Amino acid sequence: MLNIQSKLPKVGDTIFNEMSTLALQHQAINLGQGFPDYQPPEALLEEVCQAIRRGPNQYAPMAGIPALRAAIASKVQAQHGVTYQADTEITVTSGATEALASSILALVHAGDEVILIDPAYDLYAPVIELAGGVPIRVPLRVPSPENPQFQLDWNAIEAVIRPSSRLLVLNFPHNPTGITLKEADLDALETLLAHSRLLLLSDEAYEHIIFDGRVQYSPVSRPQLAARCVLVSSFGKTFHATGWKVGYCCAPAALMTEIRKVHQYAVYSVSTPVQAGIAAYLQQGAQLDALSGFYQQKRDRLAAGLQQTILRALPSEGTFFLLVDASALGDLPEKTLSLRILHQCGVASIPVSAFYDDPHAPEANHRLLRLCFAKLDATLDAAIERLQTLRIA
Ligand code: PMP
Ligand code: GLN
Repeated sequence: MLNIQSKLPKVGDTIFNEMSTLALQHQAINLGQGFPDYQPPEALLEEVCQAIRRGPNQYAPMAGIPALRAAIASKVQAQHGVTYQADTEITVTSGATEALASSILALVHAGDEVILIDPAYDLYAPVIELAGGVPIRVPLRVPSPENPQFQLDWNAIEAVIRPSSRLLVLNFPHNPTGITLKEADLDALETLLAHSRLLLLSDEAYEHIIFDGRVQYSPVSRPQLAARCVLVSSFGKTFHATGWKVGYCCAPAALMTEIRKVHQYAVYSVSTPVQAGIAAYLQQGAQLDALSGFYQQKRDRLAAGLQQTILRALPSEGTFFLLVDASALGDLPEKTLSLRILHQCGVASIPVSAFYDDPHAPEANHRLLRLCFAKLDATLDAAIERLQTLRIA
């Protein structure tokens, strides 16, 4: 027998894989794992297909094709007023996943503490551990009758900052809660970081999906914060193309030099024709602003339908997720609630507890489930119809 000592003994199959597999087995409507059930824009498909037919089809430059890096520089400049040099400060990555992993592996040293905000996307903690770092998890304030949303608690974050703290990971619009950053949060962050050596990793995978006229307040819009921040995003969400796995990161050259050292040996470079197609599409003036309206309509459709169910929808300010309170089904662990809904009416969801260190802990279980509304209206309507059959326990 091979005697392998696991580097990640606590890690199993991700909740996203687990619930998608169960959804297939039970022929359930999958509102669990976050991916659209519709195609990317036609003009983008055309550009990518043309690039595949005519080339380029050989290795891209390690940091990404120049046209795409230039298009990312223009996009970020227009959004946040910050200039990144395409040759030294922008790297095209294999999804936001690789941008996050390469950044953490490059910047976190053994013993460094990395602050995560719980509930936290599942990737961060295991990669921090691979880097020899120590995740320090600070919870969001949980929803209450007076305030039905999760809330940032800057005092709690300040309380864990120590000389060994190296990195603070932010993710807004936030998966899974759908909360967003406000201008006052950037003020708080500036004050907090003024006297620390903390770097920032800002996962903005859902940057273009933000509702009710809100704007995406990125830390990179503040020069003091941009000087120590890695900005990460993904074309997967923005272009309904999660399977293409193309994302990017932007950071000051001193940080990017180190990130590229990991990127070049983990991945080297990313699909050349897909990069070329995305670059051409962005150059055509892709209407990224329209995405928020597109998803707001879907959020509202799902939330309205849920009013006729025993589930209670929480507000969602961004992302393509909303949380539902499933307390009416009983005071049960979230995973049990999620499985009960899957078995009773054939709709898959994600328990929010999966985004905490210990999904079984009482502090991780608030009877909340995440539903993905990146679905055709017909899919949402069918899911609502099924959810309406749920009965109080
Ligand atoms: N960060 C967050 C918060 C995400 O939700 C996701 C995936 N949905 C990613 C990163 C990974 O993005 P990608 O699929 O581009 O690797
Ligand atoms: N980010 C997606 C979600 O939150 C899942 C991506 C994955 O399965 N790794 O649903």
